[in-house]
Amino acid sequence: MIPRTPLDSWIASQTHRSDRLDPDLLRNYQLRALNETIAWAVGKSPFYRERLDTFSESGLGSLDDLSGLPIMDARDLGTQSLRILCISQGDVERVVTLRTSGSTAEPKRVFFTAEDIEHTKNFFAVGMSQMVAPGDTLLVLMPGAAPHSVGDLLKSALTRLDAPCNVYGFVDDPAAVAERIIACGASVLVGLPGQMLALARDQEAALRSRISAVLLSGEHAPPWLTRDIATRLGCEVFVHFGLTETGLGGGVECRAHHGLHLREADLLFEIVDPQTRTPVPDGEAGEIVITTLRRRGMPLIRYATGDAGLLLGRDCPCGSRVQRLLPLGARIHDYPVSPGLHLSMHHVDEAVFRAEGVSACHATLHVSAWPDTPDSLALTLAATSPSSKNIDTLETDVRTSLLDSPDIGPLLQDGSLHATIAWTSAAKCLALSGPKRMLTTRTIMEPQPCPN
Ligand SMILES: [Zn+2]
Repeated sequence: MIPRTPLDSWIASQTHRSDRLDPDLLRNYQLRALNETIAWAVGKSPFYRERLDTFSESGLGSLDDLSGLPIMDARDLGTQSLRILCISQGDVERVVTLRTSGSTAEPKRVFFTAEDIEHTKNFFAVGMSQMVAPGDTLLVLMPGAAPHSVGDLLKSALTRLDAPCNVYGFVDDPAAVAERIIACGASVLVGLPGQMLALARDQEAALRSRISAVLLSGEHAPPWLTRDIATRLGCEVFVHFGLTETGLGGGVECRAHHGLHLREADLLFEIVDPQTRTPVPDGEAGEIVITTLRRRGMPLIRYATGDAGLLLGRDCPCGSRVQRLLPLGARIHDYPVSPGLHLSMHHVDEAVFRAEGVSACHATLHVSAWPDTPDSLALTLAATSPSSKNIDTLETDVRTSLLDSPDIGPLLQDGSLHATIAWTSAAKCLALSGPKRMLTTRTIMEPQPCPN
């Protein structure tokens, strides 16, 4: 029998003092918390006063009325962060500045109080309790030196579970990481999906059956990727969804692995049509929009995240009634390659890693400004060590996978995209991509002059 997510009783106890979640009582709590958040924001922030003043007097009558409030997005966090802030800067415990990749827009700034951070730590402790037993050692493959970084918050949360937590930083060299795992006896790992895949593929022989659970966080983890890691390491893989804007923690899978149970005492989730920004029913894909319920430093009210996903409903096979999210990985404003087609790093990964023997992938997309010049996808790949195939065979396998990809294959076949492949070591490939793996694009502005 699949154990119920521990988030169920945790959220129930905070929202209606029960040990089983009752969705009606949860909604009552959420409406109260939402109206308190609106009143607080309007009272303290010029940004919200201008937008929501008319809603703050009587409050919303039901959660359905939320859809009548205006939507905000990353541009507001870039240009108006100090007007959104609801506390004096002296009460700010942490500020996160995020540069939006691929754009020259103002960096986003998100502010947190000590209490906001405490809520996140509690969520981490409850979420991790389903993969960590007392005495297990955890290794976090994300940064942890800075106060309130993911590694630091996890370390602090894990002390409550009596589980030692070591922080390594991002995966640089898979062999060095494997050595550290073995040296500290870690059985639970936390890391970025692309980096954990590289580690599992490169160090499969060294790590197999040493690891009991892996938590993937920080970027999209598609099902094929979690299966690949689980099979290679012989462990259970859990996916977490969280953004800086959600207070780092947002939702985490239970042992049924049917979507991510959401942190519903702190966050309201909606899915909206990316064009019209009107809510879509559960089960339909759209843009994820969040509203914070207890945050006082910088509450976010109907914040459009730019991430695609869908809500799965409350009937999880684990028996919990906590709402579940299925993140879809696509960014709403991903790079358009041709009308109606957006190409993301996860499309490239899905094709490339289907070839057995690839351990890491870095990709750059050169989008041509000229109709007769094809776009170009420059891949830098690493083979698993020791390599099971020679590079020529592996490259043929990668090209076959690219042609078989429903996203990339048609573009290669009709000549609108051209792919080049270069090979390097896994460590160099990880260094090229950086921790956050994006499909980087550069536009070719001028045709290359012909040599004489
Ligand atoms: Zn569940």
